[in-house]
Amino acid sequence: MTGRVGAMARIDISISEVGPRDGLQNTKIFMATDAKKAWIRALAAAGLPEIEVCSFVNPKMIAQFSDAAEVAADALTIPNLSVVALVPNLKGAQRAAEIGVPRLSLPISASEAHSRANVRKTVDEQLAELGAIVALRNTLPPERRFKINAGVSTAFGCTLQGDVPEADVLRIAAAAVTLDADSVSIADTVGYANPGQVRRLLAAVKREIGPKLDAAHFHNTRGLGLANCVAAIEAGVSALDSSLAGLGGCPYAPGASGNVITEDLVFMLESMGLRTGVDFDKLMQAREILVASLPGAEFYGHLAKSGLPKGFAGAVAA
Ligand code: ZN
Repeated sequence: MTGRVGAMARIDISISEVGPRDGLQNTKIFMATDAKKAWIRALAAAGLPEIEVCSFVNPKMIAQFSDAAEVAADALTIPNLSVVALVPNLKGAQRAAEIGVPRLSLPISASEAHSRANVRKTVDEQLAELGAIVALRNTLPPERRFKINAGVSTAFGCTLQGDVPEADVLRIAAAAVTLDADSVSIADTVGYANPGQVRRLLAAVKREIGPKLDAAHFHNTRGLGLANCVAAIEAGVSALDSSLAGLGGCPYAPGASGNVITEDLVFMLESMGLRTGVDFDKLMQAREILVASLPGAEFYGHLAKSGLPKGFAGAVAA
């Protein structure tokens, strides 16, 4: 999901950096709270318009997010940054709303098996949770009302269930809009998607819910992350999730190598003449902070090894 604040006029494709949430969720090593704050500040300074900064999950489930409130509160002081937090349920939404996080994302699995494993609820129970979060939002004074995104996960297949029917994804997307979600994003949680499938499914979702379709979220598990991003753009999506250094993965996708790599995505888009608003040198500085803060973690990325082509000037000059 994408807030589209700040330098929107200069951005063609809006990247939402999900490393501090999706990346860290699947990293065994605890990143120190001050390092998280410094990393998020460096990501924002690089020009990323939106950052998913944490998950308000029960800290007993994922210790990495025991400092979620402190990290989110710090991110909220960064000017012109759209701050997003993942909330797995109403309780998480209450915690996020307490400190004034303006955009919340609730995952809703399109796979029953994944839904039960991930949030211990059926798909319809998780849709009811969305309804409860919308109701919570509507009780708040107007200036404190958050936006709520429904993130349809395992939309392209599931490691537990296997095939996920397109009709299930469309049903959930339509139900989320009916329940008054502000936006819907479509996620390839386990890295099963291919570009043909992405084009087909996202076009179908767009027909179903129109402009409420916001971001696409891909993992690079099988090396198709960037190709899937291009297919999503061809289907009319202008917001993409990615993670610096491809940090993370999915506990239900053994061997998963993490999200689409932010720095490689920025390079691809800018090469194609699509402006992202991201400064490469500053993005690499943010990567250095990340690498220094998580010794022993796995990092990915081609640009970090190869550097930019000679004379590369980004989309403005393209
Ligand atoms: Zn993900």
